[in-house]
Amino acid sequence: MTERAETPPVTPGTVTEVAVCIIGAGPVGATLAARLASAGLPTAVVDHAGLPPMELPEFDGRAYAIALSSRRLLDAAGVWDLLPWAPGPITRIRCTDGAPGEAASALRLHFDAAESGTEAFGWMVEARALRMALNARMRSLAHLIVRAPAKAEVTRTAGGAEIRLSTGELIRARLVVAAEGRRSRLREQAGIGIATHDYGQLGLVGAVAHELPHEQMALEHFLPHGPFAQLPLAPTPEHPNASAIVWSEKRGIAERMLALSDEDYGKEIQRRMGDHLGKVTPIGRRWSYPLSAMHALRYTDTRLALIGDAAHGIHPIAGQGLNLGFRDVSALAELLLGTAADPGSPELLAQYQAARRPDALVMMGATHALEKLFGNRFPPLRLARRLGMAAVDRMPKLKRAFAQRAMGITGALTR
Ligand SMILES: Cc1cc2nc3c(=O)[nH]c(=O)nc-3n(C[C@H](O)[C@H](O)[C@H](O)COP(=O)(O)OP(=O)(O)OC[C@H]3O[C@@H](n4cnc5c(N)ncnc54)[C@H](O)[C@@H]3O)c2cc1C
Repeated sequence: MTERAETPPVTPGTVTEVAVCIIGAGPVGATLAARLASAGLPTAVVDHAGLPPMELPEFDGRAYAIALSSRRLLDAAGVWDLLPWAPGPITRIRCTDGAPGEAASALRLHFDAAESGTEAFGWMVEARALRMALNARMRSLAHLIVRAPAKAEVTRTAGGAEIRLSTGELIRARLVVAAEGRRSRLREQAGIGIATHDYGQLGLVGAVAHELPHEQMALEHFLPHGPFAQLPLAPTPEHPNASAIVWSEKRGIAERMLALSDEDYGKEIQRRMGDHLGKVTPIGRRWSYPLSAMHALRYTDTRLALIGDAAHGIHPIAGQGLNLGFRDVSALAELLLGTAADPGSPELLAQYQAARRPDALVMMGATHALEKLFGNRFPPLRLARRLGMAAVDRMPKLKRAFAQRAMGITGALTR
């Protein structure tokens, strides 16, 4: 594949003026760039990596569960319709509680999209498909400047920001957005501290092919060492029956699992997933990452806003990591596009922080509590949570409230 650089040859000394300059073109930064430029706001986005290598052409097993609120954002950014193939809807969710091998636990919690009055709880979108759509959208926008690969040195003052690129170009912006992921350099440079919690677990991520159709049902199985999720992927000619898996496991055990042969790895997945989809076979790559929660103590500084993983990282138990980042994008875009005033003013930044930090804290608290509640093997607690699941299963209103929260359609900033 020929790599297409997004950084055209520029004459050193070129000065470009934009309203907003985003550092980091990951899924969150790229979506903000597309959203703002789609609405006509002059925007720049800079990434130290090139964009084409982010589009891995082969199926690689990574996929995101996109909530309804995130789909609406991708629509508004002109990205959803550019997805190269149809995302797989999740129309049913089943939660069970047990130990490996007890996948057919008697006490379960079922969610049905039809009962919740919605088409789907969310859509499974392959990471490579989202990347292709984002890159295609960014290339088409007249109000967007994309510089990747390029290194950026940022200077911020009360009056504005200057971004000096390794190409020799200078960008002047009213607001800089840090979207460089967990190890955000801009966050560090601004002296913004973080609170972290290490779960002592690894997240094992990948995909499996299975004999039987998943019928758009997702499974969340709460196991003693961490949750195991099976998420239904859209059928492809290559893999008509396939699901993504997100499996949290104690670090030592996870490392042993990663060293297994494909066949033995498949058996371990099957033990956790159960037999409802017939025999399972791992496909694509195996991905793993250490699970920790992280929260920035502030989301803003002079002419600076943090979004996505630069601001927060959560346990994948509820599959909400990227959705949380997309809610930052919606909130910031709504504020920036709703005002003709200075886009980096202290007032606007204060509004952004007030809109987003409490929501992220609630989501972090909820995922943390779920992890603690379901990771506990103390028998009375295990009985209580099983009875709780059975009770919730019989309360349609409460179930609908849970489902709406997961879809991101409650709360203030979800338009
Ligand atoms: C293996 C793995 C699997 C995951 N699976 C899921 C999942 O199934 N569902 C889900 O919701 N979440 C998942 N997550 C979490 C999800 O990937 C993140 O929440 C999401 O990627 C955050 O997006 P982001 O754009 O904020 O940051 P990132 O994806 O980290 O992107 C940051 C971007 O900034 C660029 N950058 C970094 N530093 C600089 C710099 N100094 N200058 C310029 N550019 C810079 C990087 O090149 C990158 O393009 C997973 C994470 C991992 C690691």
